[in-house]
Amino acid sequence: MLQRLEDLKERVLDHAHKAVGYPVSQDFDYSELKDFINIPFNNVGDPFIDSTYGVNSNEMEREVVHFFADLFNAPKDNWWGYVTNGGSEGNLYSLYLAREKYPNGIIYYSDSTHYSVRKNIHLLGCESIAIKSQTNGEMDYEDFERMIELHRNTPVIVVANIGTTMKEACDDIRKIKKTITRSAIQHYYIHSDAALSGVIKALSEDHTPFDFIDGTDSITISGHKFIGSPIPCGVVIVKKPNRDRIALSISYTGSMDTTITGSRNGLSPIILWYAIQKLGKEGLKKRVDYSKGLADYALKTLRYHGVDCWKNKNAITVVIPPQPIHIKEKWQLATEETMSHIICMPNVTREQIDAITQEISSNGNCQFPEDNE
Ligand SMILES: *Cc1c(COP(=O)(O)O)cnc(C)c1O
Repeated sequence: MLQRLEDLKERVLDHAHKAVGYPVSQDFDYSELKDFINIPFNNVGDPFIDSTYGVNSNEMEREVVHFFADLFNAPKDNWWGYVTNGGSEGNLYSLYLAREKYPNGIIYYSDSTHYSVRKNIHLLGCESIAIKSQTNGEMDYEDFERMIELHRNTPVIVVANIGTTMKEACDDIRKIKKTITRSAIQHYYIHSDAALSGVIKALSEDHTPFDFIDGTDSITISGHKFIGSPIPCGVVIVKKPNRDRIALSISYTGSMDTTITGSRNGLSPIILWYAIQKLGKEGLKKRVDYSKGLADYALKTLRYHGVDCWKNKNAITVVIPPQPIHIKEKWQLATEETMSHIICMPNVTREQIDAITQEISSNGNCQFPEDNE
């Protein structure tokens, strides 16, 4: 039995070391939290209303949520949120609130949107329209305007990508809002899917319009992406009146059933709380700066070696030509037909960038296919 665990550890550590194509930070050390894995945590119900089950980390969860509400400029004393199982759950939750507000609304999302959004729309049984995206992965606002104009008497629910999965492109909330009001549509809900890039954008000097001040109604991030966690997790922040609309009191647990799942993971809030305590805004900002600097380095290095590549402004994702299977597998590069990418997470090093550049350039897969942008 122990041998099996050793084998597993060796295998995953080997993979983890070369993963530069997935947005997961690995520069964490949570060993101080090791005693907590022997405690039967359950944060069932609403983190702001303690349940009758006392083995919870609601206190930490509230602090984590507070930290992100501040970071994303949520309306003072009028927000709500919880620690989710990941960005996908946060997207589902936000779209659920949007649908409860506008049951006949149409959900608009660009065709660069993460697959979880389409799945969630299907689960919610909402009508939806896919919008074209520009070549950099950002929503095509003209196409958006045409589509909402065609349905002017229907509420608009928009999923804005704050960092698309392949190109880390950001949809501009202000442009989206302006487009909606120009069409004289009064009922709308905007959700920011900021799984990877929420923290990056919030801590960048150049402002990316995506938060509550810019006009969003909800924001989700993944905790295991930029921050880093051994358990997938995330945070969702919403406007409180939208949460109140769906709140149901459950006498069995003594809490309110305001989240998606019943029993909820109590370890993730402790992990995120610990990361925030250790790093603070300053530490997170340093990691943002490091990742952006590394992305610039990757761009320069790849180009110097004749590899065609590009990235969006303020992004840490470098888009490269599609790679053959052995490079893709070795470095775990998510690849589509026309492109692949390297994501410069805080744990990725210049040495890794040099090594991958060398392999790509000596392999000769240096140009994007003809018909690509
Ligand atoms: C990763 C990602 C998601 C899904 O988040 P999970 O934490 O994996 O559930 C959603 N949207 C975008 C843009 C993502 O990059």
